[in-house]
Amino acid sequence: MTEPTQAFVNSGWIEVIVGSMYSGKTEELIRRLRRAQIARQRVAIFKPSIDDRFGRDQLVSHSELRIPSRAVKTAKDVLRYAHEAQVIGIDEGQFLGPDLVKVCERLARRGKRVIVAGLDQDYLGKPFEPMPQLLAIAEYITKTLAICVVCGNPANRSYRKKRRTARVVVGGADLYEARCRRCYELGRRAVAPDEPPPPGGSDEVVPVAARPRPARRRRPRRGVRKAG
Ligand code: ADP
Ligand code: ZN
Repeated sequence: MTEPTQAFVNSGWIEVIVGSMYSGKTEELIRRLRRAQIARQRVAIFKPSIDDRFGRDQLVSHSELRIPSRAVKTAKDVLRYAHEAQVIGIDEGQFLGPDLVKVCERLARRGKRVIVAGLDQDYLGKPFEPMPQLLAIAEYITKTLAICVVCGNPANRSYRKKRRTARVVVGGADLYEARCRRCYELGRRAVAPDEPPPPGGSDEVVPVAARPRPARRRRPRRGVRKAG
């Protein structure tokens, strides 16, 4: 995507980049922020302190692109450190809670360009607040797709490989992989197109079509008497 340019002085806007894990959200965010820096705009970059996988003071993509950033505990902390900035980048927006929506609106109202990247779905495939709300109010939306590690199709889901029921469990390749809709729903039964099916399959997510149907008891049709 080419960056939108400012049409009116002091007119701000919101850009949202969403997708599954490994889909290139952080890469795209870093790309836009670097270009703003090259254009000598004042740029402030934030990420939630909960995600300290690659250190607290930089965004790091899975492809090892890096850019210095500030760790924040809450969305409101962004307001505190963004006064001077013309362009504000926020990664992992799904970890900053519902206040992020108001914060982004306030910054855009002040004439700033706000770019938020984050997961649009959690590991269950459910919309991951506040990203859906941000999508609704953003001027510009980019949806990124990864590659399904099982079959190679475009991947829209983040599949959790180990059983953890908490919605937020920060992790990398040890815990999550990118999957297409079909391989996500197959769970542990998913196999690459040229692989034999696994012995025993899985007790995890089983597609509806593959579930054994419960036996239905037959009822005598109304008006038809059973003989005898
Ligand atoms: P995100 O922020 O969406 O998690 P990143 O921008 O951090 O994604 O990383 C994207 C990079 O991850 C890709 O350019 C590629 O190098 C790497 N990668 C690892 N696994 C996959 C995958 N299954 N599909 C696509 N890219 C992957
Ligand atoms: Zn797949």
